[in-house]
Amino acid sequence: MKDSFPFPVARIGLIGGGQLGRMMVKAAKRLGCTCVVLDPYPGSPAGQVAGHQIIGGYHDPAKLRELAESCDVVTYELENIDTETLIQLEREGHRINPAPALLSILQDKLTQKEFLKASGIPTADFIEMPEPALQAFESFGFPLVQKARRGGYDGRGVSVMQQADDFENHLPVPSLVEHFVDAKKELAVMVARNAEGQCIAYPTVEMCFRAGENVLDLLLCPAAVNEDIAIAAEALAERTIEALQGVGVFGVEMFLTQDNQLLVNEIAPRTHNSGHHTIEACITDQFEQHLRAVLGLPLGATHLLSPAAMINLLGASDASGRPVIKGMAAALAIDGVCLHLYGKAEVTPYRKMGHVTVLDRDLDVAQSKAEQVRDLIQITGEQHP
Ligand code: ADP
Repeated sequence: MKDSFPFPVARIGLIGGGQLGRMMVKAAKRLGCTCVVLDPYPGSPAGQVAGHQIIGGYHDPAKLRELAESCDVVTYELENIDTETLIQLEREGHRINPAPALLSILQDKLTQKEFLKASGIPTADFIEMPEPALQAFESFGFPLVQKARRGGYDGRGVSVMQQADDFENHLPVPSLVEHFVDAKKELAVMVARNAEGQCIAYPTVEMCFRAGENVLDLLLCPAAVNEDIAIAAEALAERTIEALQGVGVFGVEMFLTQDNQLLVNEIAPRTHNSGHHTIEACITDQFEQHLRAVLGLPLGATHLLSPAAMINLLGASDASGRPVIKGMAAALAIDGVCLHLYGKAEVTPYRKMGHVTVLDRDLDVAQSKAEQVRDLIQITGEQHP
């Protein structure tokens, strides 16, 4: 492992200019790195902080090349990227982490599930569904969940069907179907792994979703599960990332079934919404950890310094235009509240505009303060009717 660095410690090329990128750039600057962000929208949340942005799409080979050529290491904050170009750039000697070949497995939900199955990682049974047809769904058996192979996020690209009548809600795209899991809880574990094979999990978190919206509504850490389950979840997440030989930070989402089985739902090859609390609640947050991993540095401590509850701040259901935030002063008056706003120039309904983490020695108190903040803060837009 290298132990001498000139300034800047490294030039980081970051594909994606959203909030995850913004928080990563902040961590990068703290470590003495500089950043270049690739994003199609000028003034993106990450670009604002980096100070240097290439304006271009994630599927634009020339822009991806420009980014790689101006940086020491390339990483990303989203999955929907042209991996063929990244694989070619890697062949030419550019350093890209997590590896583009791994990204291409994970960005297709079918190949991701096949990878999990082949690696002996428990996951809901599934079959490929190239052309959705009621008969094929019936022979697989309801209740089921249909998932688009590509392009889904925050529940878009997922259709839950309890019975044959729900077939009218099917997604008319190449997909997979899997058995509906009657989950007691949804858990997530962030895992970091570096090129030397050092692999560390963060404490298991519990994710609560708002019915029908599929955007993470409330995150609690530690998860309210017994210690054996939390330890098993962390071990399963580490095993998953070791099987992938991943380098970087990864989010591993899981179901805890009614009979206490853990099933891996999905792997994100990047920092993740379920790790936002680590900024305040851990010595090394997920963003710094990701940078340490992709730069070949030792990983930092992941244990929890304080229980934490986190909520996303979403645009109001009818919001549009320049964001207007109400209730901020009242929220900040509550002890233990840490507010993050992402600097997005426009609000749309349910868009992630920021998040709040609340720390408290008592997790129930942290949760009730977080819920209070959720009611206090409203993000509407100047064009709000
Ligand atoms: P996305 O990539 O859009 O986040 P996910 O695969 O994570 O999609 O699914 C979104 C949500 O849909 C999950 O958090 C969970 O609530 C629900 N879901 C997904 N798969 C299943 C399943 N097999 N059984 C029950 N619920 C599921």
